[in-house]
Amino acid sequence: MSASLEPKISRTSSLNEKQDNVLLQSKIQNLIQNKDNNNLYKLLKKNKKSRTYYKKLKYDGIIYKIGQNLCIKADRRVDYVAKLIKIVKLVDTNDEIYPLIKVQWYYRKFELGDLPVTQLDYISENEVFKTNEYDYIEIESIVSLASILTYQEFDKLETMDDTTYFTRAGYINRAFQPPIDQWTTTCICEKPPNPDLKYIQCEVCQGWCHLKCVDLTREKAKKLLNFVCPKCQQ
Ligand SMILES: [Zn+2]
Ligand SMILES: [Zn+2]
Repeated sequence: MSASLEPKISRTSSLNEKQDNVLLQSKIQNLIQNKDNNNLYKLLKKNKKSRTYYKKLKYDGIIYKIGQNLCIKADRRVDYVAKLIKIVKLVDTNDEIYPLIKVQWYYRKFELGDLPVTQLDYISENEVFKTNEYDYIEIESIVSLASILTYQEFDKLETMDDTTYFTRAGYINRAFQPPIDQWTTTCICEKPPNPDLKYIQCEVCQGWCHLKCVDLTREKAKKLLNFVCPKCQQ
């Protein structure tokens, strides 16, 4: 009795396995089509063949390591910035391989759309803010390494390329940390400095002033031999 049941059970289970696999494959195809890598990771990390702990990866001849900062392209944009958190090799039941990386996003100025215009004035095109937002993305999204400096380091640069950024705050749960009113300020207007704007340095206090705050044009500023800010003139 039990002997005659055995083949029946095994036939049923292999049929189920096949059905499961067809279902899984269609799920995978759907996720890939929708570029839903976060759910692709959730689905395939359970597979014993999937591996999620690599320290580095080689892509396009360059070695990238966990913890490094990257320039990322996505949705036709080539200028996102993120930290490399994890390198994973996902494997499905057909032994198809899906390499992905987990990144922690830095926001750039163009991603801070809901900020008041007055605050956007303080923020540089080369500034980034570390967020608590993570995604799994394709390795092909990597453009290059990015270097993220402090404001002081960035300010001293003589030349820079479009992979060089600076940071002076995080953007956690869509709020600056530290808040903007605690950022170091400059000029008589006491606003946070933005390296994209034109400043002139005071001979006395070495502080920087916006040209427009001290009624100077670029031409006038160039001709000035020494500038003393309104505070030091008092
Ligand atoms: Zn000013
Ligand atoms: Zn001064």
